[in-house]
Amino acid sequence: MALVTLDAIVLQAFPYSETSKILRLLTPSHGVQSVIAKGARRPRSRFGGILEPFTDGAATFYLRANRDLHNLSEFDLSRSRQGLGGDLVRFGAASLLAEMVLRTASEVAAPEVFDRVRASLNELETAPAGRIEAVALAEAWALVTTLGFGPSLDLCVACGGELPGEESLFLDYSAGGIYCGLCPGGGGAGRALPARARADLRAFCTGTAVELERAGAHWQLLSRFLAYHLVEAGSLRSLDFLADALSTG
Ligand SMILES: [Zn+2]
Repeated sequence: MALVTLDAIVLQAFPYSETSKILRLLTPSHGVQSVIAKGARRPRSRFGGILEPFTDGAATFYLRANRDLHNLSEFDLSRSRQGLGGDLVRFGAASLLAEMVLRTASEVAAPEVFDRVRASLNELETAPAGRIEAVALAEAWALVTTLGFGPSLDLCVACGGELPGEESLFLDYSAGGIYCGLCPGGGGAGRALPARARADLRAFCTGTAVELERAGAHWQLLSRFLAYHLVEAGSLRSLDFLADALSTG
């Protein structure tokens, strides 16, 4: 049993028993870890009510080999990100990033995923209201790329050849890329993407929130792509929540 202090982002927090909370924490060096914060729901808990989703801080816990749940000893807050909780779209987009990480979670070190999520949450919290939808799409695709299953957009997924610039080309979800138009293929699940949509997607994958032309089509594309890579025969709850938030907002 080792007492460790790690940078951590709370991805998920849920009540446990009358008085405690279970947290899923994203760390740079130990991937996703589950901890129990005993007494965190008591009015005068030493954790002081800060253990909410998207909070950033240093978590101290007893890391026990072969255990799935560790005992949280301290959480030293560095950023609470309350701005995310006050806006349904921001909250939904942040929840989507958290759900994407949890769906792919492992305890393996992934500092680039940690850095990406931290930067993305900051962006989502501070983006101007009129830009939030584009920022949400960009952060989601950038995380897809960091998690290692970003679509191949520059060369044909079959022959590796250059893609013609102006034409509408087929993005195959399961192959994870675009066909050049000369190669056979493109019979699987996917959709034709006009040149503009491909350019936007390429920008999103680098985290650049370009001006949106057809936001609905982009959300549908993201949703279908994630369904192939993250969820079998189901959907991400946070994407459904976000769709509702966008339609009511
Ligand atoms: Zn080809």
